[in-house]
Amino acid sequence: MKKFNVINYHITNKCNYHCTYCFGKFKGQDPSIDEAKKIINNIASYFRKNKINDGRINFAGGEPTLYKHLDELIDYSNSLGITTSIITNGYLLTPERIRSWKGKISIIGISVDSLSSDSNNKIGRCYLNNSISLTQLKELSNSIHECNIDLKINTVVSKLNINENFSELYRALKPKKIKLFQMHLIDGINNKSKKYEITKKEFDEFCKKHQEFESIIIAEPCGSMENSYLMINPEGEFQLNNNGNYKTFGNLNTNSLYEILKNVPLDSNKFNLRYLKEGSR
Ligand code: SF4
Repeated sequence: MKKFNVINYHITNKCNYHCTYCFGKFKGQDPSIDEAKKIINNIASYFRKNKINDGRINFAGGEPTLYKHLDELIDYSNSLGITTSIITNGYLLTPERIRSWKGKISIIGISVDSLSSDSNNKIGRCYLNNSISLTQLKELSNSIHECNIDLKINTVVSKLNINENFSELYRALKPKKIKLFQMHLIDGINNKSKKYEITKKEFDEFCKKHQEFESIIIAEPCGSMENSYLMINPEGEFQLNNNGNYKTFGNLNTNSLYEILKNVPLDSNKFNLRYLKEGSR
C-alpha cells in the first residue's frame, strides 16, 4: 500500500452558503459524536497498519464549523496522535475559535472564490446576500499566523471569477499555500453549473496571472482530483471522484478503511503531486 496519508472527512452536509457548483454535497445526516469517533478510530487503525506516522485528517463539509461536535473531534484526533486540518468558508470563524485550535490544527484552509459581492451573490457564496469581507479575512489570517497555523487559500476558478485578480488578497493574507481548482462537474452533484465551465487554457491563464505566487500555488485542473482525493462522507462511506462520479467503495461503520482501500483504484502520482507540494504538516 502506498502512503496515502491525508483523509478528508466530510463531517456535515450543512452549509451557510449555497455555491452553485458546490462539490461538497453528500447524502446523509451528521454523525453523532460516538459515530464520528468510531470513524476516527477506523482511520487511526488504517494509519497504524500502514505505518503512516504523519497521517492527517482534514475536516471538510459542507461547512465543518457547523458540525456541533467539531472541537471534540479535533481533540479526539489529537489524542490519537493524528494531525488535523480544516477547510472552511471562514464566515463563522472567529479569532477566539482559531486561538482555541492553537497546537491542535496544523492547517486552516479558507475558500475564497471572489472578493466582489456581485460575483459572490452569483456564485451563491453568501448568506442572506452577505459574504466574508477582506477585513474579516485579514483578521482571521492574522490570528492564524499568530497561532503558528499554516494558512491555505482555496479558489475554484469558473466563468464567474475568471477575470478577477487575487494578487492583492494573497499579498494581504500571506498564505503558505494557494490551491486553484478548475471548476469541474460531478454527475448528479453540480451538473447545473455546466454553463460556468472554463477550458484548461483559460485555467492555465488564470494561474499565469498569479505567477508571482507560483512557488506556493498548487494548480488542480479538471481530473486532478480523480482517484486521488480520499474522502469519507457524513454517513461514513468511503468515496472517490472516479470518472466524473462519486463512487462508493464501502462504509467505515461496518468495514475497516485498511480493507476498503485494498480495492480502491488510487492514483499515487496525482496524490503525491498535490500533497508533496502542500507539505507534510
Ligand atoms: S462554501 Fe463550500 S460547502 Fe458551502 S456551498 Fe460553497 S462550495 Fe459548498
